[in-house]
This record gives sequence, structure tokens and C-alpha cells, in this order.
Amino acid sequence: MPVLCSTCTVNRAVLKRPKTGHSICKECFFWAFEEEVHQTIVAANLFKHGETVGIAASGGKDSTVLAHVMKLLNERYSYGLELMLLSVDEGITGYRDDSLETVKRNQQQYELPLKIVSYEELYGWTMDAIVKQVGLKNNCTFCGVFRRQALDRGAVMLKVDRICTGHNADDIAETVLMNVLRGDIARLRRCTAISTSSEGDGVVPRCKPLKYAYEKEIVMYAYFKKLDYFSTECIYSPNAYRGYARTFLKDLESIRPSSIIDIIHSGENLSIREGVKMPVQGTCIKCGYISSQTLCKSCVLLEGLNRGLPKLGIGKHHRLHEKIVSNQPLTEKEERKLKVVDI
Ligand code: SF4
Repeated sequence: MPVLCSTCTVNRAVLKRPKTGHSICKECFFWAFEEEVHQTIVAANLFKHGETVGIAASGGKDSTVLAHVMKLLNERYSYGLELMLLSVDEGITGYRDDSLETVKRNQQQYELPLKIVSYEELYGWTMDAIVKQVGLKNNCTFCGVFRRQALDRGAVMLKVDRICTGHNADDIAETVLMNVLRGDIARLRRCTAISTSSEGDGVVPRCKPLKYAYEKEIVMYAYFKKLDYFSTECIYSPNAYRGYARTFLKDLESIRPSSIIDIIHSGENLSIREGVKMPVQGTCIKCGYISSQTLCKSCVLLEGLNRGLPKLGIGKHHRLHEKIVSNQPLTEKEERKLKVVDI
């Protein structure tokens, strides 16, 4: 006896929703998924009519589903948004060059303008060159810091009012776990926020319309809709710490599917005791980007790369940052310490 869809009770169910456990047909799944994203957008008031929105597009499943659903909902519910695709080329041969080809096809399929900004043009370094200098242990620190700023710079060039990113519920739950394990309350407070306002010049507000969408459902949506996306892992993807959080989360999900949303809610409800000292946001004296230190992380990392001292931005070397800002020479011992790379 075929199982009928628990929503329409007419069609044959073809999948079990990971989020709810309901057996459901394809059409009802598409509708439920899209409506949930719409409800997320409406409940959090993510966009204003007439805004220009840059969709951060990597060619991966999350950003491809985001672009598809944003275009669909914008038309279905007359959001009145002007949508654009914004991509960052980190300069990773055999990975990003291929995934950007997918973004270019998405641009044609969705008929949206596309802007690509590259690390090479912004920083003078590709990730291939960075990995050659820093090795494979801390490469994602460079990549993550540079990407955040690159997206802002691209958004400013495109004159968009807002950037939306494809972070899904699993990504956010993993980040909550990592920040709890590290005791990083400043990041913990920020990571569950569905949107951020502009924190200064050159920092464009961001939002996460897929905040409550499960990764498994995003994959199913992309698969059943036959969306054109790129699914290869980055060749420089050690990121062991996040990998452990991911494995732990998947184990929890297999026992209790609501664990993902439960962890996000826990993160949202953790509040910071009064009187706890939080980092004060200022601006980088070199590039003017937001920073809680004299130099922003991006400038410190770049300075380290350009001086052949790759460890300058890794770990706590604030005393040495001060020396660099004031052009004081480093001692031989300090230089040696910053040159050592853990492969
Ligand atoms: Fe960059 Fe690391 Fe992601 Fe690769 S895995 S794209 S190096 S952050």
C-alpha cells in the first residue's frame, strides 16, 4: 500500500521530511519549504520594499537554493526587491574556478546581475598562494576573514542595501556549539542573529533567510527541483574543529531531529550577565573597516603575509601588532616565532 502525503492526502508520499518526520509528496514539500522561508522573512522583517539585495553566491547547494527561493518568493509575494548575485573568488584552483562556472550558469538561469570580487584584486593574494605560505592548518582563518570583508567590498561596489547569505540551521547550530565550547560569548551573541545592521562605513547589513532550514531539506529541495549546483568540497578544507561540531550535531539529529532547532533556540536564549566586559567596536586605523583592535584582523593577516610572518594574525600577538603599527622593528626571536608554520 503506497503511503499518502500527510499534507494533501491525495498524492503518494515520496520523502520523509527530516525536520518534521512527515511523509510528504514532492509538491507539498516544495510548498512547505518555500512557505517556511517566507515566514522567516516576514516574521523577522528582513527586507524593505524597494531594497537592492545582494545574494552571496558560491555555486554550492545553500546559495543556489537561496537564489532560487529568493527569486521565487520575490515574485510570488511582490517583495519589490531588486536581486543581484555577489560572488567571491578566493583563488582556489580546481575548486572555486569550477564553482564560479556554476554561479555564471545560475546568473543566466535566474536572469540576475552578477558581480565577482577576487582576493587577488582586493588583497594581492590568492588562497593558492596563501596556502603555499601558511600551510593547511590555519588557511581557513585567512579565507574566512578575507571573505567577510570581500563580500562587504563587493556589496559597496554593487550599491546593495543588504546582503543575504545561505547560512542554514545546521551551520548556525554548529557555530553555537563551537562558540559555547570556546566560551566566546561575543560571537555566541552574534551568531544566532538572523540579521545584522550596518556596524560602520563599508559594512553592509546582512541576513540569513535560510536560518531555520535544515541542511538535509536544502539538499532534497535542490535535488527534486533539479537545481544546478556545485557539490565538491574545497581542496583546502581541513577545518577540523567545525568538522567535530558537525559530526556531533549529526549524531544528535539522528537521535532527535529537533536538536538542530533546539540548539539555535538555546543560543538565542543565552544572555550575557550584566557587567561582563565585551569588545568595543571601533575602526581599523589602516583601512577603516570595523575592528575591536587598532588594526582589523584582515590588515594584520595581510601584513603577516606581506612580511613573510604568517603567524602574525594567528593567536594572540596584540603586543606585536602595536609594534608593527608604530613601525618598531621586531626582535629576531619574535620574527622566528611568527615565521613558524604548523603544516
Ligand atoms: Fe576557504 Fe577554508 Fe572554506 Fe576552503 S574550506 S573555501 S579555504 S574557508
